[in-house]
Amino acid sequence: MGQLFFQPQNAHRVEVDGRKLLFHVPTTSLFEIDRLDSDVIDLFADRGTVSEGDVRTRFDGQADPAEVAERIRAFLDLDIVTDGRPPRPERPPIEIKNFPLTTIVLNVNTGCNLSCTYCYKEDLDTPSKGRKMAFDTAKRSIELLLAESPDRDSYNVVFFGGEPLSNLGLIREVVDYAEARFGALGKRVDFTLTTNATLLTEEIVDWLNAHRFGLTVSMDGPKALHDLNRKTVGGKGTYEVVAAKTRMLIERYTSRPVGGRVTLTRGITAVSEIWDHLRNEIGFHEVGFSPVTSGPIAPFNLTGDELVTVFEEMKRLGRHYRDAALKGENIGFSNMHQLMTDLYEGRSKALPCGAGLGMLAVDHGGRLNLCHRFTGSDMETYGDLDQGIAKEKLARFIEDRADRTEKGCSTCRIRNICAGGCYHESYAHFSDPMKPTYHYCDLMRDWVDFGISVYGELIAGNPAFFTDHIMPRRAYGK
Ligand code: SF4
Ligand code: SF4
Repeated sequence: MGQLFFQPQNAHRVEVDGRKLLFHVPTTSLFEIDRLDSDVIDLFADRGTVSEGDVRTRFDGQADPAEVAERIRAFLDLDIVTDGRPPRPERPPIEIKNFPLTTIVLNVNTGCNLSCTYCYKEDLDTPSKGRKMAFDTAKRSIELLLAESPDRDSYNVVFFGGEPLSNLGLIREVVDYAEARFGALGKRVDFTLTTNATLLTEEIVDWLNAHRFGLTVSMDGPKALHDLNRKTVGGKGTYEVVAAKTRMLIERYTSRPVGGRVTLTRGITAVSEIWDHLRNEIGFHEVGFSPVTSGPIAPFNLTGDELVTVFEEMKRLGRHYRDAALKGENIGFSNMHQLMTDLYEGRSKALPCGAGLGMLAVDHGGRLNLCHRFTGSDMETYGDLDQGIAKEKLARFIEDRADRTEKGCSTCRIRNICAGGCYHESYAHFSDPMKPTYHYCDLMRDWVDFGISVYGELIAGNPAFFTDHIMPRRAYGK
């Protein structure tokens, strides 16, 4: 053998309960390795460049040379070491030729009946000034889905706002139209809605239930925390009404589990306490957390120290998730469950999400935005319902953002899970959606490392958790 070179960006080792695991970064796969594998990697990690003499000096009399050679060959196949040739590209450069559009987000009203102090929506209006989407705009958006992806079996229509239930008339019309239109073609359509819950009535809940809406309620925790930011236009806290309506919703809603969405802003870092309240006292099936690092209103962004606390708290709740999962229970902590799902499915992501590719968001004027968070922002749009998708421009955006050349992401060990981060975070933090979300990479890497350890523990301690709790979720279409 000639000289061999270690490729640290492709291998990440973790130790769980004395077992050695190797996370193969290009494929997002986790292997259990034995002592010899580990010693071979140690040699490469220590020296960087390794010759035949180095291997002999290290292993003669310690291990069978044929066995050592075989391990090195396996690491060559995995691009964990190379013989000097540049490592194979992880995947060919992304070339977007088609837009497999299956999800359309309709911003049905820029108006919201609340006035949450941290709201990121740049197009947010007070209730009376809300710009409502017309039915014709919604109908043409659905036709766009069918025209762009005529061969799919199922499609998603997402209602967003402002508060989407403040334009319930339109939502009802769209559901009638979409069910008839897709049904006549023998296709399925799934509806999703995120709400602040304040406008829910029993009649509305039963109607949503009959149409199997996937529902998420924005709620920030117990009263003292929720009321800090989630207020009426008059400035009053909304906890009492949101808690009562959400309990009513969960009680009546039989078609699908209901999720809670928590926005963590300045001064709010108590992840476990919030989860406990929302899961055990309100009754959400699962609870997800969105730490705000780069909202447009700087005083609401978590400080650097708070963000560290948030990730520590997420790990604390993650350990609770792990302990329950070892006993076969899912405690409904969405961020952790998503990470376990990504690792279990070995998803190696080239892009952080489907924004601009499988999903577009339509604003009230019929313009096409990357996703729901961009409607009404200064970010450029990508066509409209008259002209169709500006495909060249959109393809260029996605291809350029996915290109990791000369970006820190190219050697990052979580590059195929993070994939450069959310476009909107980049846009909000750097005013540049092309830039990866560099402002909290270390915390993200630490979180994913933690997830890999937990995954290793669960695979060893209770592999049935994945078949019982992750496969059904996927089959459910989430
Ligand atoms: S944004 Fe940061 S954490 Fe994400 S892949 Fe790039 S370097 Fe890694
Ligand atoms: S760009 Fe960000 S907010 Fe938009 S869909 Fe992707 S991850 Fe979500």
